[in-house]
Amino acid sequence: MEKAYITRQSAQKIKRGNPLLVEKDFSSISFAEGKVVALYDERQQFVAQALLGKQNKGIGFVFSQNPKETLSASFFENLLYKVYQRKQSLVISSTAYRLYNGEADGLGGFTIDMYEGVAVFSWYTQAIYAYADIIIEVFLKVVTECQSVYEKLRYENPPFVSRFVTGQPIERLVIEENGVKFATYMDDGLMTGIFLDQREVRAYLKEKCRGKSVLNTFSYTGAFSVAAAVGGASQTTSVDVAKRSIEKTTEQFDVNGLSMDSQKLYVMDVFDYFKYAKKKELVFDWVVLDPPSFARTKKRTFSVAKNYTELLEDAIHITSKHGHIVASTNASNVSYTDFVVMIDKAFKRLKRAYTIEKVFRLPEDFTTLKQVELSNYLKVIILKVD
Ligand code: SAH
Repeated sequence: MEKAYITRQSAQKIKRGNPLLVEKDFSSISFAEGKVVALYDERQQFVAQALLGKQNKGIGFVFSQNPKETLSASFFENLLYKVYQRKQSLVISSTAYRLYNGEADGLGGFTIDMYEGVAVFSWYTQAIYAYADIIIEVFLKVVTECQSVYEKLRYENPPFVSRFVTGQPIERLVIEENGVKFATYMDDGLMTGIFLDQREVRAYLKEKCRGKSVLNTFSYTGAFSVAAAVGGASQTTSVDVAKRSIEKTTEQFDVNGLSMDSQKLYVMDVFDYFKYAKKKELVFDWVVLDPPSFARTKKRTFSVAKNYTELLEDAIHITSKHGHIVASTNASNVSYTDFVVMIDKAFKRLKRAYTIEKVFRLPEDFTTLKQVELSNYLKVIILKVD
């Protein structure tokens, strides 16, 4: 097997349990997608074995500190068996959860979500996708309740983005989470209709919004609005620039048996909606702000790293006295501390006071590595506006 030399810092990082490899870990490297290399330190000591594959976070993942390990069926079976046992022991109040979360659950480059009996694999490197057949085969042996497998390709220039793989095709599935139902679609592009990592935040809205008015911006399929409405919100307003959000959101209210009478849906740029709401002097008890990390519409480009503060200022203007703002981002280029600073700046600029009522990070099934701060990418801060 080919040897690759890594720096002293990199060897230490790996020994401390950080498996992610970036270019600067190597003193020299001839990169090839899918190559398995033995990593050696400067003193010619073996450190670990890694699978090279490009994805947004880096160029490869360590898979073993044993020089004899191979990426065989039994390696993957052992990996999946252990993670399955561990996830089974968690109490997750939903019929959908993350069963395997990349490097934090063993080997990086792929994730597996369970939607009841349906497994959705997401492959983030072409390198790991070469092992897809073996991985899926052993997965079906380990997770015997799995009836159906779908897959998404999330690396650059894939031959397709989503497809049915094996078992019984189940394209539409209504999951249930904390007493709220969500219609999900297994083979509709990269997304299924719900972001499983926001489960605890939806539960919080359901618990806290009784009798309250709720504005959900960047609402997608309206999951936060529906959770709040099931919890007894007096009124919800959902705003998303995508036309499909109307039919998708209506469907979510429908599956919960809720009438649309107290729900408003707008297909609109959020920044335009804020102008409209200000002009009409609308105020809301709860405002949810969960934008994509980057977005480009016809009028403007938005990035959380650059524009969250202005977005929040707009939101503060239309939040009622003692109201709440759910400030959320999954941008991996913004740390928790950066996010707090951006939030604080908005309130300082408007000379308004606030308190942090609660913080949510990734739920337990989305395993994270302490050694990789960015692996806990979700930051949700519940703000109480004074
Ligand atoms: N908060 C949602 C997920 C948001 S996904 C949830 O938890 O379910 C991001 C959404 O933002 C997409 O549906 C996209 O259409 C929408 N979007 C992106 N830019 C926008 C803009 N400028 N105004 C309104 N919606 C926007």
